[in-house]
Amino acid sequence: MESSKILLITGVSSGFGRALAQEAVAAGHKVVGTVRSVEAQREFESLSADSVFARVLDVTDFDAIDGVVEEIEASVGPVDVLVNNAGYGHEGVMEESPLAEMRRQFDVNVFGAVAMMKAVLPFMRARRRGHILNITSMGGYITMPGISYYCGSKFALEGISEALGKEVKAFGISVTAVAPGSFRTDWAGRSMQRTPRSIPDYDAIFDPIRKAREEKSGKQLGDPQKAARAMLAAIAADRPPAHLLLGSDALGLVRDKLSALEDEIRVWESVTVSTDG
Ligand code: NAP
Repeated sequence: MESSKILLITGVSSGFGRALAQEAVAAGHKVVGTVRSVEAQREFESLSADSVFARVLDVTDFDAIDGVVEEIEASVGPVDVLVNNAGYGHEGVMEESPLAEMRRQFDVNVFGAVAMMKAVLPFMRARRRGHILNITSMGGYITMPGISYYCGSKFALEGISEALGKEVKAFGISVTAVAPGSFRTDWAGRSMQRTPRSIPDYDAIFDPIRKAREEKSGKQLGDPQKAARAMLAAIAADRPPAHLLLGSDALGLVRDKLSALEDEIRVWESVTVSTDG
């Protein structure tokens, strides 16, 4: 077994966060997980008597984050790995979806993750080591009608993650954006926020997408436990990747996107370079 680490994982009540916590503990690591209720805290801490710790934290409670991280550093120990996993999907046609729902999506998926990073970085910088994993999505590379706010939030986290990685590399800190395809978690079930339909013009493009996503929930291709093991491999790597796709669906769709992007760049190349000088 490689050396034992302390992982701080946001959102360990279900899905990837729970799977990673279980696999990490099985591999000999300690896990501090965040949850959103005292009941969930008790339930999570029952997983192990000495390797698992839970803290109640909503990642949009920005004023509380620094204090929670300071307390974890003082009472549990140095956070070797931060995993920004807490997040959810908003589904809705953009024109139909209130701006407040976009703000909420970005508060949780982007601002919450950034606030967590800002809280752990002073400690990691002082130690000249650390690893941050940001769980983005294949929706941080590819897009689909009906999840524009979600894709926007994951594109944002991909970009922030990559730029931050360049800022902190010299301090011995790695940043990895982990982009899963479709996995069997609560993402498309209890956790998804769905804006009600209001504009019939979008029925043809969007109704089949919403129906298909509801029907597929729980039957997705990806196994979260296997995703957790893949994340542990990235955590154990000497040189962790800046980007890691998870799942053959993500691989195929992202490759198609990159090749379509390259084709479009080529078609418009003469216009692109016409602006120099
Ligand atoms: P999940 O089973 O719904 O788990 C989401 C976790 O995030 C839950 O523990 C939830 O806590 C927590 N959470 C949500 N909002 C929060 C907030 N404001 N503050 C603190 N915790 C919060 O779904 P999941 O698929 O494992 O999601 C984990 C991450 O993977 C998300 O960032 C998601 O976007 C990403 N992802 C999922 C898929 C997929 O197919 N499943 C694909 C790509 C990316 P509660 O129990 O309190 O709600």
